[in-house]
Amino acid sequence: MEAGLKQMLIDLETLKRSLPDPSHHASIDQMRSRVEYLATIANYGPTRRTKVKDMSAEVVDSNPYSRLMALQRMGIVENYERIRGFSVAIVGIGGVGSVAAEMLTRCGIGRLLLYDYDKVELANMNRLFFRPEQVGMTKTDAARQTLSDINPDVLIESYTLNITTVQGFETFMASLISKTDPQSKEGSGVDLVLSCVDNYEARMVVNQACNELNQTWMESGVSEDAVSGHIQLLIPGETACFACAPPLVVASGIDERTLKREGVCAASLPTTMGVVAGLLVQNTLKYLLKFGLVSPYLGYNALKDYFPTMEMKPNPQCSNASCLERQREFSLTKPARDAAAKAKMEAEALLAIECPVHADNEWNISVVDDSELDKADVRISDVLPEGLVHELPSADTIHQLPVPVDNTNTVDDLEDLRRQLEALNG
Ligand SMILES: [Zn+2]
Repeated sequence: MEAGLKQMLIDLETLKRSLPDPSHHASIDQMRSRVEYLATIANYGPTRRTKVKDMSAEVVDSNPYSRLMALQRMGIVENYERIRGFSVAIVGIGGVGSVAAEMLTRCGIGRLLLYDYDKVELANMNRLFFRPEQVGMTKTDAARQTLSDINPDVLIESYTLNITTVQGFETFMASLISKTDPQSKEGSGVDLVLSCVDNYEARMVVNQACNELNQTWMESGVSEDAVSGHIQLLIPGETACFACAPPLVVASGIDERTLKREGVCAASLPTTMGVVAGLLVQNTLKYLLKFGLVSPYLGYNALKDYFPTMEMKPNPQCSNASCLERQREFSLTKPARDAAAKAKMEAEALLAIECPVHADNEWNISVVDDSELDKADVRISDVLPEGLVHELPSADTIHQLPVPVDNTNTVDDLEDLRRQLEALNG
């Protein structure tokens, strides 16, 4: 394209010279500037950045990790660079899974394993991530193309398969077990599995695989009407598995099995899917990099902007045999966990005695006498934004209403009452 545009510029110059009438020169110059502009755009073709060996905290425009490494400086994350050592498997590269994959890629995750059997369609364009020119490609290949352009440091493995088939399940299990660095990890070869599938059967398959491998995973889902969703953390033996209590049934009264029915066109919004993907990856980062609270369950109701949370214990009567096995293992380790928790509490108590909480007072907080606040007569409830008034008097105002208290009258009334009683008795 670049060579063609250069030739066009030469042709236009020749044409200009060959025209004796100078009145035509202006329009030829105009055409020339348009071709020059196209040549400039053509120069911005797809270029890939080179791999970065070590994550650096250096604040320069050319460092793709400076803003992420700043999390360390801000005291949010202890060691951000650890993210390069983690492997995450994403099952289902649709509206939630593809966005989750992009977020983890931009965060510099070490290795991503992507699973999907579907192809990109124009009907997917209401969601984020995939582009119209990728229509017809498998979702895993299209995702691999985009993600490796965004961050070539991430090792991406794509698996075009259906995990609900016998063959697919075997490959899925084998890929989760295989390790890039056999020395570094115990158990399976991944640190976390993210389920971003859209049907009950596939969720049950992910549940089965993770219970068998004792693999921690997170489940995500968006409702058929596109206005609610959830994420859930599942630790085999410790929390409810998907067969113990499917989350969508608990959250909204919808039976999960009725979702993604054949012939029913489910609604979807890029907003709800983006929110759920964001919540899912936020929980993933907190879980992997050990900061903040890792939510055991977080719902999202878009109509009411309501985010319910809850914890779910495993069901001792769960129908999944591997779940029961993991529950038994978990109960066997209870004495060791209790001892560790007690030791931690004792260590914290000792630390509190050695370093009183407010000794250095780095925030310059000073204690103010309550009476001084009374004198200032500041009533926060009276401070309202312009144009708003209280509909009802505040509780303070009601208490201030004058209550007639006259001790003499009270005594007189009592004397009167006593006399009346005496008269009755008499
Ligand atoms: Zn279970």
